[in-house]
Amino acid sequence: MKFEFDPTGGLAAYEPARAKVREFLAAELARGGFVPWKTTWTTFNKEFSQRAGAAGFIGMTWPRQYGGGDCSALERYVVIEEMLAAGAPCGAHWIADRQSGPQILRHGGERAKREILPRIARGECAFGIGMSEPDSGSDLAAVRTRADKVEGGWRINGSKIWTTNAHQADYLITLVRTAPAGDRRQDGLTQMITAMDQPGVTIRPILDLTGHREFNEVHFDNYFVPDDMLVGQPGQGWDMVTSELAFERSGPDRFLSAYQLLRALVDRVGKSPNREQAVQVGRLVAHLATLRRMSTAVASMLEAGRSPNVEAALIKDLGTAFEREIPEIARLVIDVEASRDDPQDKFSEALAQLVLTAPSFTLRGGTREVLRGVIARGLGLR
Ligand SMILES: Cc1cc2nc3c(=O)[nH]c(=O)nc-3n(C[C@H](O)[C@H](O)[C@H](O)COP(=O)(O)OP(=O)(O)OC[C@H]3O[C@@H](n4cnc5c(N)ncnc54)[C@H](O)[C@@H]3O)c2cc1C
Repeated sequence: MKFEFDPTGGLAAYEPARAKVREFLAAELARGGFVPWKTTWTTFNKEFSQRAGAAGFIGMTWPRQYGGGDCSALERYVVIEEMLAAGAPCGAHWIADRQSGPQILRHGGERAKREILPRIARGECAFGIGMSEPDSGSDLAAVRTRADKVEGGWRINGSKIWTTNAHQADYLITLVRTAPAGDRRQDGLTQMITAMDQPGVTIRPILDLTGHREFNEVHFDNYFVPDDMLVGQPGQGWDMVTSELAFERSGPDRFLSAYQLLRALVDRVGKSPNREQAVQVGRLVAHLATLRRMSTAVASMLEAGRSPNVEAALIKDLGTAFEREIPEIARLVIDVEASRDDPQDKFSEALAQLVLTAPSFTLRGGTREVLRGVIARGLGLR
């Protein structure tokens, strides 16, 4: 197998959408809706999401009957890359828009589609991902949270961990074991929509290095899920999780998390950088251009109905390594004390924030080592 990053027709056809989202973001900045170098696409801000929903920037590719915009995936790509590059706080709709909504659209029951998708598209309904468990991260097939069949639905018992935004989410899509593993450990897994306001669920905080609560532990104790809130059929969970990975791994969210710091770095070195600054910043900008080119190629392949999983894993591996490198290089080429509270110096503030958060970039959504295993297998090397 070889990598394929087919030249695309480009994104030029979507310039009107780019102009529209830029206008929206300029208005948000003018009203003080967010401070770019303090926020990223993971920052949870429901008011921002509701305004983005009202402007038609959530659920863009979904059918109109479910609140979507019937747009192409490439038009959505243009909109999200502008949001991310601006540092817009997309966290309240990101998971639902990128992942949970599309899964419900493809595999969910009619009630879930009718009740949930239009609320996501309006920016009113947030989702989290209930996959990882204390003994099951990279090895996702080891999940032990189980659901037992009861009259009219299923009862879940077990615990999830690292669940981003569970305390602010309306729902999780939760991966559970509904049948013993059998010959393949991946068999017997099922995805279910779990509402966070129902009895039988307890959410406990985990603070990150910045002292911020984004992660949680989620404990299910005899929690009831009605039959029509399954995503797909019992036992299809694994295939669904893996088939969605190319969407999750290849987007601009995998290389733009530190973009505001890169911008501040370019401003800081100015028009007369020393040699080291010119080399390092030039290298970062060249890598960014290459990653964007690869990512848009994968977006075109996805739009054409192809499954470029190995190419997507490569983008995530290279993209998240690139995001992590930006604060490292920034602090080497600029002599500055990083501070999380220096409104006079956005470079210093962005640097402090990124030094603390960047270590997680190569872990979330699958670690680099695991991705490299996927890439090696795709290339026939293992
Ligand atoms: C910011 C952030 C947000 C997250 N949000 C969520 C969320 O919303 N929902 C959710 O379910 N999870 C979430 N996670 C969890 C994330 O998916 C896991 O941390 C990740 O899959 C790794 O699992 P683990 O932490 O159990 O590490 P482990 O799987 O225990 O891995 C430990 C180390 O061993 C290495 N390793 C493991 N297996 C192999 C292998 N086969 N070959 C080579 N090396 C290997 C790993 O690369 C890693 O370095 C989040 C994580 C982060 C950092």
